[in-house]
Amino acid sequence: MLEIRGLDAFYGEAQALHAVDITVGEGEVVTLVGRNGAGKTTLLRSIMGLHRDVRGSVTLAGKDLTRTPAHQRARLGLGWVQDDRGIYASLNVEENLTLPPVTHVDSAWSLRQVYDAFPVLADRRRAPGTTLSGGEQQMLAVARVLRTGARVLLLDEPSEGLAPVIVQRIRDIVLEVKQRGSTVLLVEQNVAFAASVADRHYVLAEGTVAADLDNAEFTARQGELLEYLGM
Ligand code: ATP
Repeated sequence: MLEIRGLDAFYGEAQALHAVDITVGEGEVVTLVGRNGAGKTTLLRSIMGLHRDVRGSVTLAGKDLTRTPAHQRARLGLGWVQDDRGIYASLNVEENLTLPPVTHVDSAWSLRQVYDAFPVLADRRRAPGTTLSGGEQQMLAVARVLRTGARVLLLDEPSEGLAPVIVQRIRDIVLEVKQRGSTVLLVEQNVAFAASVADRHYVLAEGTVAADLDNAEFTARQGELLEYLGM
């Protein structure tokens, strides 16, 4: 579904990614793990077309997106949930949910489905974005992308800074998204969360792919990975 080939990314003279190859199959949940500065966010932003100083190719469902601007990539089915969550503070929950256009009617979640999956958002539908807790903002950010019907969800550290009960909720949602046939690529520092949700994992180190592990291998090597990631 999503194929990254030979991706190099630069910040001026500095190279942040080196010949990265990543494949995410249709309906798969795949994580990117790595230490701070390994290049995870740069990779997600490059896939989304938000970081433009790149070489290599990004292909979505067989379509080469390398020269496609970010807003068109969104229209073609890449759904970006950024790490600062990007909630519009002046809009209420329902306005935030309904603002982005539906890009894929067949896979788009209705407001009812969103509210069934996230009852807390239903309770707070008239609440302004500014008044939401971190967990509510994260749920809203994920729900907003589900509303568009995105075929591939790109999530940047969805569990970061959240209480365990909310992390559990996010995990359930990712699994539900997978069950509905959507594809997910997520950046994650929380190894236990990554192991509980994903089919495969790429370990990034200094801008290169250091390992490509299925979930059984990843789980078996959790202790070693925690040490490696400095956690
Ligand atoms: P973190 O978990 O800390 O966000 P990361 O794995 O997502 O880390 P990136 O943020 O992608 O890593 O950073 C990869 C490399 O690119 C790092 O060496 C970082 O210093 C550098 N970098 C990131 N953003 C910029 C920027 N705006 N200008 C210059 N260098 C940058």
